[in-house]
Amino acid sequence: AAERTSLFIFFGGTGDLAYRKLYPSMYNLYKKGTLREHFGVLGTSREKLTDEQFRDQVRKSLGTTKTDKDAEKFISHFVYEAHDVTDKAHYQVLKTRAEELDKKYELNGNRIFYLSLAPSFFGTVAGFLKTEGLTDTKGFDRVVIEKPFGRDFDSAQQLNDALSKSFDEEQIFRIDHYLGKEMIQNIEAVRFGNTLVESLWNNRYIDNIQVTLSEKLGVEERASYYDNSGALRDMVQNHIMQIVSLLAMEQPVSFTDVDIRAEKVKALRSLRVYNVAEASTNFVRGQYGAGDSQRAYRDEDNVPHDSNNDTFVAGKLLFDNYRWSGTPFYIRTGKMLADKFTRVDVVFKKPLIDIFSFPQNHNAPLEANVLTMYIEPHAGFSLRLNAKTNGQGFQTEPINLDYFVDAKDSKATPEPYERLIHDVMKGDGTNFSSWQEVSYAWRFVDQIRKVWDLQQPQFPNYTPGSMGPASADELIQRDHRQWVYRL
Ligand code: NAD
Repeated sequence: AAERTSLFIFFGGTGDLAYRKLYPSMYNLYKKGTLREHFGVLGTSREKLTDEQFRDQVRKSLGTTKTDKDAEKFISHFVYEAHDVTDKAHYQVLKTRAEELDKKYELNGNRIFYLSLAPSFFGTVAGFLKTEGLTDTKGFDRVVIEKPFGRDFDSAQQLNDALSKSFDEEQIFRIDHYLGKEMIQNIEAVRFGNTLVESLWNNRYIDNIQVTLSEKLGVEERASYYDNSGALRDMVQNHIMQIVSLLAMEQPVSFTDVDIRAEKVKALRSLRVYNVAEASTNFVRGQYGAGDSQRAYRDEDNVPHDSNNDTFVAGKLLFDNYRWSGTPFYIRTGKMLADKFTRVDVVFKKPLIDIFSFPQNHNAPLEANVLTMYIEPHAGFSLRLNAKTNGQGFQTEPINLDYFVDAKDSKATPEPYERLIHDVMKGDGTNFSSWQEVSYAWRFVDQIRKVWDLQQPQFPNYTPGSMGPASADELIQRDHRQWVYRL
């Protein structure tokens, strides 16, 4: 791979995300040659550490030892500075260290500021980076923002206004790690690379599309964050809206960030924003109760006993445009469900006339064709077709054409964070959320939230290991349809 040159300044450099994801992903880029000689890393956070102590943490996060020469060379590019992000004067210290690294590794003034911190600090840090001169370089300056981007439209807008004082939209990279997943990017390849698919990709041939992000675990140790967020904010506003807009968008003029974003935004603009009545019929929420060896959400550590937080959400989305009018998108996500997976099921319409099930033939009715995109854990596709059963007589049966990425290739699949960090170095915003996308998604989600805040839910309403509350099945059965994945 071509070597890329940049200084990385990680705010929250001793945090969980940096340790589990960011440093190992940087190391993978190093092993592949994207990072080589001309990069530097300045870690900062409140903890007082020496460079050596910081490097010990990085080494641990990579799982390497001091005898690994190549890893040690990589780690030698890391330095550390304790820094309180609210301490304006101290940014001069960061600036000096940044300049040292810039000179030492010949970084051309290219800087990536990675804010892996509590979101309440995003605005503060961005402001000081500019006023204290850290962005004053002859190279590029880019800022990477972790989720969540606001908790509703108003707070997201405030945050964006604060960031915009220091950075232009094309310098801001809002992470949605789902967009870094290999199979999410395959949505575009499959749609726009295949006549067979794209020519049928509309309301004449598609009956409905289903997106499921299912988690097997509960809140774990993130309860204090999660109880103020919930499934709607934590999963629907970002990941699900991103997936849905890739499925719904028109073909971009070219395969570049500007053109792809334009189409995603256009799709989101035609997503129907619900009024109160529509929001209450088209969305349902859930919270898990106790299971065999699992306590109820309300009994988890750091969760109030009367919490009405949603650990599950299912809904129906409608696009008011020529391509999708009449074809709903059903979505669902939740914790403590049957299994951990993400999939998209595209359900085609059945043939208008079924010539095989005349009375003497006793053939079962034809099934709908379904194109399933398996996003994770196993990446692949499956296409369900009707075919003739082998043997005498004439009966039909559904068969599946399957393709799965084999184990060797999936080991070589870049981690989402590896791909995303690489994209930031290239300045490619394709796999990040633009402000417009974020704002349309919040406006949609806020309407649901508003209605929920007025009503008292009947919680808990589903058992661990199920696929959510009965209301999620009723939501789709009411339309004479079924979830393709069901227990
Ligand atoms: P964390 O609590 O583990 O780490 C926070 C870091 O911020 C620490 O290094 C801490 O020292 C530093 N910090 C706190 N206050 C500071 C201050 N005043 N000045 C300087 N440094 C300060 O958090 P995390 O889990 O690594 O998450 C970081 C960001 O990533 C958050 O925005 C979070 O929402 C997001 N995120 C995390 C995960 C994850 O898996 N951990 C997943 C998705 C998004």
